[in-house]
Amino acid sequence: MATRVYECLKSIGEKIIENKDFLTDLDREIGDADHGVNMARGFQGVIEKVAQDDPDIGAVLKKTGMTLLSTVGGASGPLYGTAYMEAGKVLAGKNEISTDDFLAAFDAAIAGIQKRGKAEKGEKTMLDSLIPAREAFAEAAQGGADLKSSLDAACKAAEEGIEFTKTIAATKGRASYLGDRSIGHQDPGATSATITLETIRDFL
Ligand code: ADP
Ligand code: MG
Repeated sequence: MATRVYECLKSIGEKIIENKDFLTDLDREIGDADHGVNMARGFQGVIEKVAQDDPDIGAVLKKTGMTLLSTVGGASGPLYGTAYMEAGKVLAGKNEISTDDFLAAFDAAIAGIQKRGKAEKGEKTMLDSLIPAREAFAEAAQGGADLKSSLDAACKAAEEGIEFTKTIAATKGRASYLGDRSIGHQDPGATSATITLETIRDFL
């Protein structure tokens, strides 16, 4: 199972690397044109440095977070790094993940991002995809959906979250320097967060 978690992280990395130019172009519109470059560098590090056969899912995620923290840079490095590290704490010692485990890890990841970045939903950040995705995941799971179906619901909400970011002005991060001129553009971080969730869903 832990090998599968490494494979899943590798798959996330490959998708991020594949979308490097797209994410960077989005960041060119409202930021400093480095989101894709930052994230691709970070996940290249994850693919190379994270142990492929560690049975402890928590340890694998913790190492992923530390690698992102030290290699991504920008605002998103510490935020994604913290998200993976906090999820890793919740999953420490586990070699399988239930729907409840996933929800607990998802909650911890979001709490970590919010503690570090002090943003709420509606500020045009990755949280505009992640928070609605978490809500949709919880609702589906509570209704009896399995992990993959719950993630499917989460992905739909995350996609809607991306659309929502086009309608609002940024009040956190670099894009906030643009004020209302950031309206009309989709947030790069909300996009990379959605790509992440979609890759996990597709992996299952
Ligand atoms: P930087 O803005 O330092 O160049 P990146 O370009 O890698 O960093 O990442 C930008 C993304 O980071 C934004 O699109 C946004 O989603 C996310 N972000 C920025 N600040 C915050 C914050 N305080 N909380 C959550 N996400 C944030
Ligand atoms: Mg940037």
